[in-house]
Amino acid sequence: MEEEVKSLNFIEHIVEEDLANGYGQQDLRFRFPPEPNGYLHIGHASSICLNFGLGLRYNAPVNLRFDDTNPAKEEKEYVDAIKKDVKWLGYEWDTERYASDYFQQLYDWAVELIKQGKAYVDSQSSEEMAEQKGTPTESGKESPFRNRSIEENLSLFERMKNGEFEEGKHVLRAKIDMTSPNMLMRDPIMYRVLHKAHHRTNTDWCIYPMYDWTHGESDYIEQVSHSLCTLEFLPHRELYNWFLDQLVDTEKLRPKQREFARRNLSHTVVSKRKLLQLVEQSVVDSWDDPRMPTISGLRRRGYTPESIRNFAETIGIAKRENIVDVSLLEFHVREHLNKIAPRVMAVLNPLKVVITNYEEGKEEWLEAENNPGDESDGSRQVPFSRELFIEQEDFREEANRKFFRLKLGGEVRLKNGYIIKAESCTKDTDGNILEVQCTYDPKSKSGSGTEESLRKVKGTLHWVSIAHAVKAEVRLYDRLFNDENPDGHKDKDFMEFVNPDSLKKITGYLEPSLKNAKVGDRFQFQRLGYFNVDTDSTAENLVFNRTVTLRDTWAKIQQNN
Ligand code: ATP
Ligand code: MG
Repeated sequence: MEEEVKSLNFIEHIVEEDLANGYGQQDLRFRFPPEPNGYLHIGHASSICLNFGLGLRYNAPVNLRFDDTNPAKEEKEYVDAIKKDVKWLGYEWDTERYASDYFQQLYDWAVELIKQGKAYVDSQSSEEMAEQKGTPTESGKESPFRNRSIEENLSLFERMKNGEFEEGKHVLRAKIDMTSPNMLMRDPIMYRVLHKAHHRTNTDWCIYPMYDWTHGESDYIEQVSHSLCTLEFLPHRELYNWFLDQLVDTEKLRPKQREFARRNLSHTVVSKRKLLQLVEQSVVDSWDDPRMPTISGLRRRGYTPESIRNFAETIGIAKRENIVDVSLLEFHVREHLNKIAPRVMAVLNPLKVVITNYEEGKEEWLEAENNPGDESDGSRQVPFSRELFIEQEDFREEANRKFFRLKLGGEVRLKNGYIIKAESCTKDTDGNILEVQCTYDPKSKSGSGTEESLRKVKGTLHWVSIAHAVKAEVRLYDRLFNDENPDGHKDKDFMEFVNPDSLKKITGYLEPSLKNAKVGDRFQFQRLGYFNVDTDSTAENLVFNRTVTLRDTWAKIQQNN
């Protein structure tokens, strides 16, 4: 329903126009075409949501196509990770395709081009070819091999395919125009020799097609109507079309390439190559390290698919590149977790509180709501006893009137429990506070209905009973880069901006209901933030990630604007 009121993005306008000009709805088909050379990142989420979103809007099939033409960089591990991530985001592809499925067809078409005199084998070194390329304002020079006979070209190309030549010895080039103002049209390379095993075709091929030759023809084979890619491919469109012009039989649908702007996120990098560098140089532990802007990293960190889809939907697609502030992504996960995450109590920076008028050895189980915003989420029991932990930050010996937490002589309510008053504290020789002695008002128990239970005090603190607390490792994350745009410096490498303090591991004390929390479970630790159980967690050693803090910095930014 919501879909109906949303205005169309410019790609949807293009589709609408095509429908108005004679395309049938049944002609529409899209694809998401990742290269399996790394894990998907938050930038890809925009492309996924765009393509699959179009599929849903127009009830059209969307293929998942692996652009697997470079065996030097591609692996099955990446294929599997990509499939898992797209599914997790909530999308279903129509068919799973691989550019490598089309190697034979592409080869046959290349032979056809040679026969038409539109492709030739060049036997120069890559340096020589680069020298002849010219500049955007200066024509290139034709290769001395440009006018080889068709027979010689056919024979050399076949021998390239048969593995008779070492890498770099020959390439197949399209014969287009060395004077074109578009450098990509200056006899682009279609095939190179690569003696590398491919994760799907193994050693069947020792020549591999280049991106431009592969992509448009794959779109054509799959009859993709709208082939959407990022802006850097705008100058490739002319070549995309040229290749199609050579082949397309007019009854079949001719795919269209259209471009949209890449999405960048602040304080991180969104490029598989650079993310790989972070993994290889052990800046992070893995592709799914919760600090990574990968889909798998965000999943492990506790993000929900809904929050990522909502983020992508909100930023929409654009015609110009810009950087989206990471706090907007955080806003969306906070908003979703606020709806779904049960509330629990945990203390991360403990200070011991002793309730001196509470009987030693006594325990009480207090009723605590799982989600104050939604009664249907039910409640649980939390244990109360004489010795508790509160956060160190929640106590001061002295403080001004604006400090609504605990201070000597002052009162606070313990969440779900009693009102306590700080009477005294003990310190070590350096003046660090070791313990706070408090008294409690036995009639003030939350929910007991007494006059005292309704008494208002300014502060409410979370706490845990020391004897019952469950210890857990808690991982606190900060931004992976100290700079808003680590990639945007001409004179400095992005690696120079890595934040050395992006991970802090501490011990937290959790209420005992969390003892059986399972990997992936998400919670709000009241007053602290949203946390989930990490994949490293075991029954003996619980590990939690802080997904995001509670404070809504994005809303503040919005208000100030
Ligand atoms: P990377 O540099 O991270 O490898 P890529 O564009 O080479 O990115 P592909 O696997 O080729 O990665 O991308 C698959 C699809 O996702 C392409 O259509 C690509 O244009 C799109 N895409 C990749 N990065 C972004 C991004 N940051 N924002 C929007 N779309 C993106
Ligand atoms: Mg790429």
